[in-house]
Amino acid sequence: MKYFLLLLFFFQTLLYPQKRVSIDSVAYYSKLAAENVKENNYKDVLSYTQKSINYCKKNNKIEDEANQTFNLGKIYFDLKLHNDALEIFNKSIVIFNSISRKPNNKVANAYYYIGLVYIEKKKYDLAETSILKAEKIKENLNIKKDVDLINLQKGILSKKKGNDKLASAFFTIIAAKPENTVLANTKAEALYQIGTIEAKNKRYNLALIYFNKALELNRKGKDLNQKSSILLALSTVYDKLLDKTSAYTYLKQHLNLKESIVLANDEKLGVNDYEAFKESQRIQEDLLKAKENKEQEKNDKFSKLISILAIAIISILSLLSLSLYKNNIIRNQSNLLLKEKNNELIAAKNKAEEASKARSEFLSTVSHELRTPLNAINGITHLLLEENPKKTQMHYLSSLKFSGNYLTNFINDILEINKIDSNKMEIEYISFNLKQLLSDIQNSLKEIATINNNRFILKIDPNVPENLIGDPTKLSQIFMNLINNALKFTNNGTVSVIARLRNSTNENATVYFQIIDTGIGIPEEKLETVFESFSQGSVEINRKFGGTGLGLTIVKKLVRMLGGRIRLKSTVGEGSTFSFELNFKADTKPVQIKSKDKNYNPEIFKDKKILLVEDNKINQMITKKMLSRKEMICTILDNGEEAIQILKNNTYDLVLMDVHLLGINGTIATQQIREFDITTPIIALTAISLNENREMLISYGMTDVITKPFIPEDFYTTIAQNFSNS
Ligand code: ADP
Repeated sequence: MKYFLLLLFFFQTLLYPQKRVSIDSVAYYSKLAAENVKENNYKDVLSYTQKSINYCKKNNKIEDEANQTFNLGKIYFDLKLHNDALEIFNKSIVIFNSISRKPNNKVANAYYYIGLVYIEKKKYDLAETSILKAEKIKENLNIKKDVDLINLQKGILSKKKGNDKLASAFFTIIAAKPENTVLANTKAEALYQIGTIEAKNKRYNLALIYFNKALELNRKGKDLNQKSSILLALSTVYDKLLDKTSAYTYLKQHLNLKESIVLANDEKLGVNDYEAFKESQRIQEDLLKAKENKEQEKNDKFSKLISILAIAIISILSLLSLSLYKNNIIRNQSNLLLKEKNNELIAAKNKAEEASKARSEFLSTVSHELRTPLNAINGITHLLLEENPKKTQMHYLSSLKFSGNYLTNFINDILEINKIDSNKMEIEYISFNLKQLLSDIQNSLKEIATINNNRFILKIDPNVPENLIGDPTKLSQIFMNLINNALKFTNNGTVSVIARLRNSTNENATVYFQIIDTGIGIPEEKLETVFESFSQGSVEINRKFGGTGLGLTIVKKLVRMLGGRIRLKSTVGEGSTFSFELNFKADTKPVQIKSKDKNYNPEIFKDKKILLVEDNKINQMITKKMLSRKEMICTILDNGEEAIQILKNNTYDLVLMDVHLLGINGTIATQQIREFDITTPIIALTAISLNENREMLISYGMTDVITKPFIPEDFYTTIAQNFSNS
């Protein structure tokens, strides 16, 4: 075909970009390629176009790569390197398709050129398929300007396939189009094709008309190949018409033109140049492949590494989840177990608390119930001893007195421990004189000291503040127990009570106490256990010295309650030292507290009227006897209601009110008496139990308290004191 210059024009814009360009860019290489087209130097045209493609690949400019690939195909097509052209056009279609699935005009053009290549290769079916594809795409894109070109090819194909009629129809349409420069070559080609059909049908004169028209138009289009074909066709027709001269002239023109075309083509690209270019392309491709392989290898390695890492991470995460899951199960199980154990412990604690409460109540009741008959025993023993008994009776009565006292002490101790253990005991903070307290104790224990022929020394640091604020009752109990023991377990020795000031500020004083004796001592293995309940040094000791085995237990508990710790050092045969340290508040403004005066004048009792409210017959009898012994006049009532009534109409010097009475008890009766009589002293007679204490009784309006079993001296002292107070 001789019309490719026409096509060159058609794709001019692709091949000759006019922009100013920079080195190593698509535009730059395109410009160089275009310049070399003008120079007819196709070796460089190929080289720059390929460089342009390589640049696009390197910089990932896919659309430019597709365009430049198409251009390369076009160059091959111009050079009639049809196999290369076919391969490269197909490549450009693949690249365009990778950008978008919807084909563009460039793809249509590539198909169009493929169609032309197949026509050249005489593969008309394949050519038709490609041309129709190009037509379809252009139709879809509504591109009308290339309709004539496509129709021309369709006409040529119909003609090649022997369908001259259809071919003529296509050509005639093109031939009928008005003339213009763009259409010149196409129209010339159509006229030429019609001429060939006419010549074939032996209508030579008609053929000559078409060929001449074609030749005329060809002058505008300047397609040399087309011109060469037209000249040859004219020569052939003239030959048929037997116009040998004309035939010869056209043939000669044709041959000259043909020769110059071949020459020009050879100039474009020498065989060696083509081979050299192909070789460089191969090397380039190999290099690219090698690079791609390297990159692939690198990518493979990288993805391998990523895979290994991912597997490792997944494994670690799985292990972690598994261990978390297992942990959770174990934790849940442990929680369940703990909950169960907790419930068990709560149940056990509640049980223990209930048991302890029951034990306390039991002890309280038992000791209370024991006190009443014990009061009778002690009271009667006391009365009998005062009624000049016979010498033989004296011995029995002494034993009875000892046993009664022992039992009384025992019950008191039990009750004391019970009170501490059941937290019913409260610490008092009242002002007291430590020196006074210790010398009172010394006085009361003088008798025991003399019996065992002991020296009893009291050493009080003069720096210890005179008055302290603390709990003198508990402190007395502690000292009484410790000194009592010291005097009991020492014979012909010394018992020293020492109080030293350890620390003092304006407000606080820390006092260190020691109770030292030179007695029998305690064996080392017993040093810890002596503080436990009922632990006595040995059976022999118990028999010899008596005691309940509860004193040190009470001491330890009381010292702890007051914030100290009892310590014991002892050597058998040398003696024992009990020591403890307590903090007190120093009382800077002491209030003088009246201490109980044990020395009363017996005259104070004479003819005093006493109302005794007591329901126990034996206690009535003993108390009455004890009162009348001191010449007091006693009226007995056995219930609170009557007592209230009698007091409304009569005057008594003092009321002795038993707390536990039938009907309303002593506290309620006192409360009601206090509504109309606030002056008469009412002394509570009680076997103090767990829920009773001095403060509680006083709060009901009682004036004082005498505990059962009575210690006769205390009994008289308390009554005498209340007489003198009133
Ligand atoms: P008890 O009423 O028997 O004296 P304690 O609890 O007061 O009970 O004392 C327990 C035991 O500790 C005593 O039986 C005695 O063996 C021993 N003990 C206590 N104090 C002394 C002491 N100062 N010297 C020797 N032994 C003592």
